[in-house]
Amino acid sequence: AMQVSVSALQQQVSSSQAEIERLRADLMRTREQAVRCALTGVLNRRGFDDQLNSMLASSPASGAEHCVVLIDIDHFKRVNDTLGHLVGDRVIAGIGEVLRSLPAEPGMALARYGGEEFAILLPSSSRQRATQVAESVRSRVGHIALRNKQTQQVRLQITVSAGVAAWRPGDDAQTLLAAADGALYRAKTGGRDRVTVS
Ligand code: GH3
Ligand code: MG
Ligand code: MG
Repeated sequence: AMQVSVSALQQQVSSSQAEIERLRADLMRTREQAVRCALTGVLNRRGFDDQLNSMLASSPASGAEHCVVLIDIDHFKRVNDTLGHLVGDRVIAGIGEVLRSLPAEPGMALARYGGEEFAILLPSSSRQRATQVAESVRSRVGHIALRNKQTQQVRLQITVSAGVAAWRPGDDAQTLLAAADGALYRAKTGGRDRVTVS
């Protein structure tokens, strides 16, 4: 009788272990989902904030700069208005693909910052390097054209504007983002489809 109960106990232990493994995997997936945008595959705002805080928690390597790039789709309202929200969503997903196809930079984080805005973090990089990355996004997005399925005629060409800023001593996350946002604003008022550095 004792042998039977020991083996029953062993079975219970191993099934509990399997259950714990399942829960652990579920938890990891849920954690991952909590910081990632399902439409674009890049970090969501929450994931971005986490990465930004962790970037600013340590000083940049000597001679390097912590950089942020903000990217905003140009005249995106037109895409929605003329082709509908579903096409708009596909364009947003396409920008996510462009970001994910960028060559890797050390510590680089890609995020959907808001509706049609994206952000890139480049820890211990340089304004020059960040500008090159932004320029690379701009030029890759420039190749996205929305065509009429039947006629293949281009209906809309997508462009983005970007603002680049580097962290300066005394800056907090808000100041750094405001600097990048200011640069982005100048890219917009300067004619869009361009990268401006703070
Ligand atoms: P600008 O060049 O100055 O950035 O012009 P814009 O039209 O891109 O900017 P505006 O802020 O006027 O409009 C942004 C639009 O983006 C409005 C909003 O409906 C749309 N948008 C935001 N998030 C989403 C989304 O997830 N899906 C779709 N389809 N549209 C979105
Ligand atoms: Mg916007
Ligand atoms: Mg826009």
